[in-house]
Amino acid sequence: MQIMAKASIFRRTAALAGVVIGSLAAVVTVRAVTLTSRQPSAVAPTIPALTSDGELRAQRLGQAIRFQTVSRDGQPPATAEFEKLHEFLRQSYPKVAASLPRETVGGLSLLYKWQGADPQARPILLLAHQDVVPVDPATESRWHKPPFGGELADGFVWGRGSLDDKCSMMAIFEAIELLLARGHQPQRTVYLAFGHDEEAVASGGASQIAELLRTRGVQLELTLDEGLTVLKGMMPGVKRPVALIGVSEKGFINVELEAAGEGGHSSMPPRQTLIGRLGRALVRLEAQQMAAELRPPTSDMFDFLAPEMSWPLKPIIANRWLFGPILRWQLQQANSTRALLQTTQAPTMLSGSPKSNVLPQAARATINFRIRPGDTTEQVVRHVRAAVSDAEIKVTAQPGSGTEPSPVSDVHSALFATFSKTVVSLFPDALVAPGLMIGASDGRHFVPVSDSVYRFVPMVLEPEDLPRLHGTNERIRISDYLQMIRFYAQLVQNLDGQR
Ligand SMILES: [Zn+2]
Repeated sequence: MQIMAKASIFRRTAALAGVVIGSLAAVVTVRAVTLTSRQPSAVAPTIPALTSDGELRAQRLGQAIRFQTVSRDGQPPATAEFEKLHEFLRQSYPKVAASLPRETVGGLSLLYKWQGADPQARPILLLAHQDVVPVDPATESRWHKPPFGGELADGFVWGRGSLDDKCSMMAIFEAIELLLARGHQPQRTVYLAFGHDEEAVASGGASQIAELLRTRGVQLELTLDEGLTVLKGMMPGVKRPVALIGVSEKGFINVELEAAGEGGHSSMPPRQTLIGRLGRALVRLEAQQMAAELRPPTSDMFDFLAPEMSWPLKPIIANRWLFGPILRWQLQQANSTRALLQTTQAPTMLSGSPKSNVLPQAARATINFRIRPGDTTEQVVRHVRAAVSDAEIKVTAQPGSGTEPSPVSDVHSALFATFSKTVVSLFPDALVAPGLMIGASDGRHFVPVSDSVYRFVPMVLEPEDLPRLHGTNERIRISDYLQMIRFYAQLVQNLDGQR
């Protein structure tokens, strides 16, 4: 009898479990198949393809690369090279020079203003940087073309800055010159700004431009800076290229740990040395990472891409209420995706005594944090103190190093829709999604004077291109560069209509 009752309870439980699993599967499937696309419909661009004079435009980018506007940490800027570049820009773009008043800010940064006809329309700003990172002399022989030669070969423009970021700067100039030649008169004012020290540790040119605009009472609707791009073959579950529009960038802070003591001769060391104590603190810190969470703009990115994804990723992303923990775990397995979910911590510098037989009087470690939207510099310092949990270790934020994560620009606005539409009109194969930029750029300085800041370079990058950024054999496909010019021109025109 008891066995019979047990069997019947088991049958009923199994049946109930079956119903629950069946319903869950149904909900999961229905949610996945009923996702509606967030993709804008492509409209044919009104700016024609730049075929006849494409070579000439590419040559001008090559010429700009030849000016060695290199930023080196702790060294003054290469003023003469910047000044030659400025003169080259003036001569190469006579219509810009004639119609857009230019100001020099912070020594070598440039600000142009294209006055709009409608004083009510809010201005926009296109931002890029003139400077480039150095070329490591030890790697120079690996370049197929000289890094500062600006040569055109095999359908590419070669050299430092062809991807980061002289391509953006030159494409913006080409676009405005093109619009002026077409007789375009903007309704809203268009500012162009080009910092000279984005790649330096203490960048200042762009922040001074932003401050200047603030004192003049300028409030921009959009600042567009370098940042994310159209990525090909890099997004799992998506076959088409993905244009990621950076709507926020991570903050950063350097935190220093210090163990201080007597020092002395290394022949009579204490059982626990300062370096040992510091090491223990670092091990504890590494064991306690800050929380990983899927929140905007990374969650927005998945919302935009999920409807276009293939199975089995699509139902997983569409049902984050159920699969959230699995997805989070999966994304944490690769460093590149983990960085999207959490504030990362990287010990980068260590110091002890200056000599092998001297005990240090202080042992120090510097940890570089990249802060995701939602966390703050203050939380980071609190987290370090709690994780280290040692009163003998001094924890301090490096003075002047802290920058909060940028606010997340609205991805449901008319502005974002117009921007996305422009992207797909020039890149019809691509899907559009908002994204988080994990690096830092000048765009963050414009947060106080701009309702939205987007970080996007209109170019296609494949996995094999990534090591070329700040690396060897930097180059841009000429056809891609011409498409960039077209994008900026089309964008200025479309945003004028969108007001
Ligand atoms: Zn850059």
